[in-house]
Amino acid sequence: MRQFLIAGNWKMNAGPKEAKALADQIAESWEDKDTNSEILICPPFVSIPFVVKRFRDTGLKTGAQNVHTENNGAYTGEISTEMIHELSCEYVIAGHSERRAYFFETDELVAEKAKKISDSGLKPIVCVGEKLDERKNDIYRDVVKNQTEAVLELLDSSDASQLVIAYEPVWAIGTGETATPEQAQEMHAFIRNLIADEWGQEASESVRILYGGSMKPGNAEELLSQPDVDGGLIGGASLKEESFSEIISIAE
Ligand code: 13P
Repeated sequence: MRQFLIAGNWKMNAGPKEAKALADQIAESWEDKDTNSEILICPPFVSIPFVVKRFRDTGLKTGAQNVHTENNGAYTGEISTEMIHELSCEYVIAGHSERRAYFFETDELVAEKAKKISDSGLKPIVCVGEKLDERKNDIYRDVVKNQTEAVLELLDSSDASQLVIAYEPVWAIGTGETATPEQAQEMHAFIRNLIADEWGQEASESVRILYGGSMKPGNAEELLSQPDVDGGLIGGASLKEESFSEIISIAE
């Protein structure tokens, strides 16, 4: 049985001051929640220490949004897995579509990042998903297949229980447009089959596959009730305590 993961990706929002306030609200409303889900927030790097501090002893978890593949060195502006580890983070997002689009991250680089994250004892959340024209041209399965297989080739089945994949159709991110539950389930099952082909059935059953793209209280229930949807990677709605908490309650 896979545990739900409800993860907030704050993107380039919430500097230290705002992050502290938001983490405080989330932690407070969390106190009286009864849920079996794992709850995670990925703030911008500069805000991570403040969120970690507020979440200490609450069971709420903190992660990072990106990482470099080297441990240290002359890589101005970059952050390593060791540094993230030192901050007591547990998860790192790799290959978000915004990084693929604006920072030219390739499937190969994303796979290397996932490998580095995994090898350093952190858990990778690897984002995959097609753009609108790729869906319209009916090549979305190929796109997601290439993105997923690049990662499966570098990791191995012993990493399965630590690996999280987030299916985030680019056309649904920040647009208010969501994949229908059927579209999400189709792609989640497709991804799980790719994992089964590469790593075997048992390993594929232990990888959690999250949905991301305009998830909000109004659509979370239908999406989360799909058999291969194991949680959500939530952008906009994770920046508002009420909507994030509501999604947590829906997930249980
Ligand atoms: P939105 O929930 O704002 O659409 O963002 C989804 C996302 O990109 C999470 O990583």
